[in-house]
Amino acid sequence: MRILTVALQKDGKLASASFEAIEAARLLGGEIYTAVLAAETGPLAEQLARRGGGKVLAVSHPSLGFYNDEIYTRILTELVGKYQPELVMGPATFYGKALFSRLAACKGGCMASDVTGLTLDNNKLVVTRPSYGGSVITSLEAGNGQPFFVTLRPKIYPEATEGAGEIINEVVAPSCFQTGTTVKETRVESGGTLNLAEADVIVSAGRGIKGPENVKLVQDLANALGAAFGASRAIVDAGWTQYSFQVGQTGKTVNPKLYVAVGISGAIQHLVGMQTSKTIVAINKDKDAPIFNIANYGIVGDLFEVVPALTKKFQAELQK
Ligand SMILES: Cc1cc2nc3c(=O)[nH]c(=O)nc-3n(C[C@H](O)[C@H](O)[C@H](O)COP(=O)(O)OP(=O)(O)OC[C@H]3O[C@@H](n4cnc5c(N)ncnc54)[C@H](O)[C@@H]3O)c2cc1C
Repeated sequence: MRILTVALQKDGKLASASFEAIEAARLLGGEIYTAVLAAETGPLAEQLARRGGGKVLAVSHPSLGFYNDEIYTRILTELVGKYQPELVMGPATFYGKALFSRLAACKGGCMASDVTGLTLDNNKLVVTRPSYGGSVITSLEAGNGQPFFVTLRPKIYPEATEGAGEIINEVVAPSCFQTGTTVKETRVESGGTLNLAEADVIVSAGRGIKGPENVKLVQDLANALGAAFGASRAIVDAGWTQYSFQVGQTGKTVNPKLYVAVGISGAIQHLVGMQTSKTIVAINKDKDAPIFNIANYGIVGDLFEVVPALTKKFQAELQK
């Protein structure tokens, strides 16, 4: 099978989920191609080639300094046409989801987003993904002769660490760069230093924190653990923190190694965004809160006592 993975970068740094897509391709077996688009692809293409990216298709152009749906889609449509992969795969990150749905629509083919498994059944590719908020797992097969476009949920596959590769500098049609949209700058929201979707550890706050003045209490614990900060919708709707931190059905889907839920009840709409986390720790004063049904470890107690004590303990550990 010929597989094209799409490595996404921001500010000249490759998303770790790009290496997860390469590893998923390697485990599936087949001929691997990896596309990388940037203002200057040199160092990125070298990294990909060293880490199993196979034939690395590098497109460098000044217009690729910032992500742009239209330009990326045109370039990838051209590369898909040229190399004819059966599977095109990239990370189910914010940009990845936007790009792949557009790409599948423009190129024509099957599309599956947020995929958590890929297997071959009698030489036919079968992908699995959670549906209906994670309550069922759906298996999908590609239609005959059409490319299958897949975004992979971050943190399901390990990152590719090594492997052979060869860089091919691609020159695409100048029309690929014609666009009605120019991205002039991107700004990081204050406090949003770690990418939630790719974080290994997340500490999230819910309505139990009582007010916006206590967001810092939970952020301090997140900082002590080197974790990203997350939030339930209740505190986003209340205006206590920004939407970009929201985890759940109408927020981000996360899959960290450790998820700490502080003062979060465990409504289904929150759970669907974080229930695949490897280890879940819940801090809640109500022993019957539904979050304890999925937690690996539970602390029944007042978060205003438990959280500062944990923060102090982890800060002390850091200083050793
Ligand atoms: C269409 C739709 C989409 C939605 N999408 C999302 C989504 O993406 N993400 C999301 O999170 N929600 C979503 N919701 C909202 C969801 O249904 C819940 O309302 C929300 O998750 C509740 O947030 P919470 O757990 O912070 O608040 P609450 O349910 O009010 O829970 C607060 C918890 O804090 C505990 N607590 C209180 N004081 C303390 C204390 N001192 N110490 C310890 N614990 C304490 C309480 O026991 C309680 O369990 C959605 C709802 C709908 C209808």
